[in-house]
Amino acid sequence: MIRFEHVTKRYPDGTTAVDDLSFEVAEGELVTLVGPSGCGKTTTMKMVNRLIEPTEGRILVDGQDISAVDPVRLRRRMGYVIQQVGLFPHKTVLENTATVPHLLGTRRDRARARAAELLDLVGLDPATYGDRYPDQLSGGQRQRVGVARALAADPPVLLMDEPFGAVDPVVRERLQSEFLKLQSKMRKTVLFVTHDIEEAVRLGDRIAVYGHGRIEQLDTPATVLGAPATPYVADFVGADRGLKRLSVTPIEPGDLEQPPVVHLDDPLPRALDSRWAVVLDREDNLHGWISADVAARGEGSVRDHARRMEAWLPVGASLKQAFATMLQHDAGWIAVIDREERGRFLGVLTPARLHEALRRSTAADARAVPRTDVDVETVS
Ligand code: ADP
Ligand code: MG
Repeated sequence: MIRFEHVTKRYPDGTTAVDDLSFEVAEGELVTLVGPSGCGKTTTMKMVNRLIEPTEGRILVDGQDISAVDPVRLRRRMGYVIQQVGLFPHKTVLENTATVPHLLGTRRDRARARAAELLDLVGLDPATYGDRYPDQLSGGQRQRVGVARALAADPPVLLMDEPFGAVDPVVRERLQSEFLKLQSKMRKTVLFVTHDIEEAVRLGDRIAVYGHGRIEQLDTPATVLGAPATPYVADFVGADRGLKRLSVTPIEPGDLEQPPVVHLDDPLPRALDSRWAVVLDREDNLHGWISADVAARGEGSVRDHARRMEAWLPVGASLKQAFATMLQHDAGWIAVIDREERGRFLGVLTPARLHEALRRSTAADARAVPRTDVDVETVS
């Protein structure tokens, strides 16, 4: 969808901001550009909507060399969100959001109706906020208006330059998760600039780690964290990259341990070769657990003594969620089910299995093979 071919940008003063850059962003993909200040991220982004022209090389959007496309028409296909938002101070929130459709010739009432929809979409009630002026909003609310406005013409491409950089960490986290939800529905092709590795990892389908004017590594967050391509990348992602990696590594069925299992209507199991058993209902959905001690001494059926299980997650949840769930319930293991709420029981994750999953997934990403192909004994 967006393709850089040997793109170099030298400013008149001799600064090489971008140096022979080649990469591609697929349709519907969100690529984060991350790196320290001054490494060429903004320059890269502004070349895509022709606010800056490359010195060498070319950029294709949808297969078309953009140097041959009228910049105004090009920009209509690209929403642009920046940190300073750039809302018109004398226009209301609704008018700001409706600006682009209005310019494109959409009738005024339709443009306003669409703007109201978009404000709703980004979490701002149009009845409450539509008639306010930008200086009557918080920083986070202004950023939401910026996103709504960028989406107003329904462009296939979004260019976002540190859009959440100016708000406090709590608001930023909320804006990020709202944006992720939106993106999972919209599937825009997104270039997202940030200097924050946590944000890059959280949002990106892939992340491009910038050194000086060059991409040092472009890969999935899990691979960049698990197998940094260069010492520079390792240093940039931080010494706690193993910890960061927990949040981008999903629980897979192959990670799970299979403990003894009993059903609600079973008689109490007198001898378990474990300190506890998982209790399932008739549909093999997770019900809870029963301890071996209780089962050995109690009267009646499993149903009479089973405890409900609070510590569970669906498969595909992150290892970080798994770890957090263990800590939250002070549990030595969590149950993993096949979907949200009362799903089929798949197995349990223990701290040891969690550690194994992390090691195997790191090795799998480094070797570009599925995690199931990695024998934990062979991981150094
Ligand atoms: P980033 O967005 O990663 O912080 P930029 O793309 O803004 O980096 O800048 C990359 C490099 O180009 C920096 O060294 C910056 O000082 C330089 N630069 C940016 N704009 C100009 C300009 N108009 N003239 C000269 N140098 C510039
Ligand atoms: Mg910048």
